[in-house]
Amino acid sequence: MRALIVADVHSNLEALEAVMTDASQREGFDTVWSLGDVVGYGPDPGPCIDLLRSHDLVCVAGNHDFAAIGKIGTDEFNPFAAAAARWTASQLKSGHVSYLANLAKVERCENFILVHGSLRDPIWEYLVGQLAALDSFSRLESSYCLVGHSHMPFLCVEMDSDVDFRSFVEGKSTALGPNRMIINPGSVGQPRDGDPRSSYAIYDNYTGTIVRYRVTYDISVTQEKMRRAGMPNYLVQRLSKGQ
Ligand code: ZN
Repeated sequence: MRALIVADVHSNLEALEAVMTDASQREGFDTVWSLGDVVGYGPDPGPCIDLLRSHDLVCVAGNHDFAAIGKIGTDEFNPFAAAAARWTASQLKSGHVSYLANLAKVERCENFILVHGSLRDPIWEYLVGQLAALDSFSRLESSYCLVGHSHMPFLCVEMDSDVDFRSFVEGKSTALGPNRMIINPGSVGQPRDGDPRSSYAIYDNYTGTIVRYRVTYDISVTQEKMRRAGMPNYLVQRLSKGQ
């Protein structure tokens, strides 16, 4: 079984299509694990939900998913994100709203726990430092934890009573060994690590490995849709910078 692991798609249909095509052309995938923020920021919220749901899918909720349907407020959002949430809300059909409303905050697949932010705060916490990682390991009732939210790919390995953040190197297969790990595959639809290419991962339970890949997509198509929808220019520009 191979799982395509995606995070922070953010209504970017061109990016999601490119990822699915790339994953299919490499070794294929049997299921999709989505780590939240399917919507928000980008121009195609409904089509992204529909494309994900056309596959075998396990998906957890992100802050933008719940904000778009009013399940959480946008007080903690910056003005750009809040504007995007309002626009997203105007685009969703009732089927999309009910799908997002019923997403769980935490899911388990094999020996992975899937969560958007962290196990302490699944919706809001950015798991980016030692203390947040230690806290999530203390709550982790499994071998591995998959997170999104920061849009920054990494591997975080549990070492005795400490953690070791490592770069999740593109194209390099990582064996899932006895040490527990927290893994962020990076963002499909709005990368923020300085590389505008979509980032995703494939887990293969036969080989016990996980690999991260990147794929280019036609950013200008997404940007043109965003301009036509009247999205803030800052959100349009950041896609080509990967920030
Ligand atoms: Zn996000």
